[in-house]
Amino acid sequence: MTQTIGPVLGEATVQELREAVRGNVVTPADAGYVEASHAWNGAYDGRRPALIVQCTGAADVIAAVGFARGNHLDIAVRGGGHSVAGLSTVDGGIVIDLGPMSDVTVDAGAKRASVGGGAVWADVDHETQAHGLATTGGLVSTTGVAGFTLGGGIGWTMRKFGLACDNLAGADVVTADGRLVHCSETENPELLWGLRGGGGNFGIVTRFELDLHPLGPMIYAGPVFYPADAARDLLVAFREWAAEAPDEVTGVVNLTSAPPLPVIPEEWHGKKVVAFIAASTGPVDSGAGLVRRMRDVAEPIADLLGPMPYGVLQSLLDPLWPKGIHAYFKAVNVSGLDDGLVDRLCAVHLEAPGPQCEIHVHQMGGAVGRVADDATAFPERSMPYVVNAVTGYQDPDAGDAHRDWARAVADAAGDAATGRAYVNFLGEKEDARAAYGEDKYARLAALKDAYDPTNVFALNQNIAPRASA
Ligand SMILES: Cc1cc2nc3c(=O)[nH]c(=O)nc-3n(C[C@H](O)[C@H](O)[C@H](O)COP(=O)(O)OP(=O)(O)OC[C@H]3O[C@@H](n4cnc5c(N)ncnc54)[C@H](O)[C@@H]3O)c2cc1C
Repeated sequence: MTQTIGPVLGEATVQELREAVRGNVVTPADAGYVEASHAWNGAYDGRRPALIVQCTGAADVIAAVGFARGNHLDIAVRGGGHSVAGLSTVDGGIVIDLGPMSDVTVDAGAKRASVGGGAVWADVDHETQAHGLATTGGLVSTTGVAGFTLGGGIGWTMRKFGLACDNLAGADVVTADGRLVHCSETENPELLWGLRGGGGNFGIVTRFELDLHPLGPMIYAGPVFYPADAARDLLVAFREWAAEAPDEVTGVVNLTSAPPLPVIPEEWHGKKVVAFIAASTGPVDSGAGLVRRMRDVAEPIADLLGPMPYGVLQSLLDPLWPKGIHAYFKAVNVSGLDDGLVDRLCAVHLEAPGPQCEIHVHQMGGAVGRVADDATAFPERSMPYVVNAVTGYQDPDAGDAHRDWARAVADAAGDAATGRAYVNFLGEKEDARAAYGEDKYARLAALKDAYDPTNVFALNQNIAPRASA
């Protein structure tokens, strides 16, 4: 008897795929389905894919794409599974999970890493630091290299080394028609242009080639926590400090609640606080001078800014973001931090509905701003700050309150919002034309026509092929 899985699949059909791939093919009838269907972001644990293919290499990915197309299945591609808009899982479709493809090899002489399409930043940091090298990765080390890099990639070293996508030197890509193509500055350069910020629109990247830079093992970095009533002074000081800071240092102001960590006095746990967090890629002994101005703003609750291993910085926030937590973000690019915006951010901070509601004000500029705007698909390099409302919660019933609050943070940007957006910080599938702007969107759409004219890869901040527009 043939067991039907989803609207079209029978066991015999699935068996064909099992025979075609080396990785596991997991259906609702298999033990381990629930675990395999869950991406990292618990907000989307309720989705029920028809099957998950845990790919071990590019050949599996090609087979999975062909199978999906042959059986008219929606495709969700999973790297690290952190998508805040739930784009790496799908009801009734196929999840092409690159998780097993997490190998990283380093060519120290060429300062280049070859990274599997399912690696997370912890994998990259582990191997690259063994050579005293690093590249721009995420603030949480369990975030996938794939989604992060393809969308742009904002991290602690970006003002010196560039965004993650600026360090993308080449890639192997499985296209919608099942070809495996390579791109670099000299081979299919327009595809490389699109992968540097255009997300997963053009194919499934099975291997990333990332540029590396000397760094560590010790760097100068960490957070300083202040009471929430210092937030206004801190943001104003940040505005002045950020305008003059050298590329070596990248800073973030975080309006949050004190996490229950032993390094923070217990009486502050769960109370509203504001943190200044910075990291320097420069010599360790020049770090204190770079951040002195920010340190003097108010009496700190806890000052943890000092020399630390780069690997420690990269995993510092991991305990606050365990697998299965519900994560929702909402972000806006802003043209500046005027007094009105500072006041509105301070006010909305106090209305946060839970302990893990954070307003990150990312300092941009430096190497990020010096790349020509048309050199990569990443939209808008001139914005001085990105304001990101970051929420995490365990109780699914708390979702509405957290999403509403995150939207209120974005609304607080008012006239300072530039209209462009960083696609990786969007909590929903949104209008990609607005995120990228008309000109860039038109160039991305032409690339989509060339590589995915029927929109096989639609679960992303989607660039619609012009044929279907
Ligand atoms: C806790 C947390 C911390 C974060 N911190 C940062 C940060 O510091 N800086 C920052 O810039 N962003 C950050 N983000 C946002 C992050 O960049 C995005 O969520 C990113 O998409 C995650 O990549 P992933 O591979 O884990 O995602 P996934 O959920 O696996 O995929 C996300 C998107 O990428 C596509 N995709 C995934 N793998 C591939 C592939 N191999 N080929 C083609 N397309 C693929 C998917 O189809 C999907 O559209 C954070 C997110 C979370 C939840």
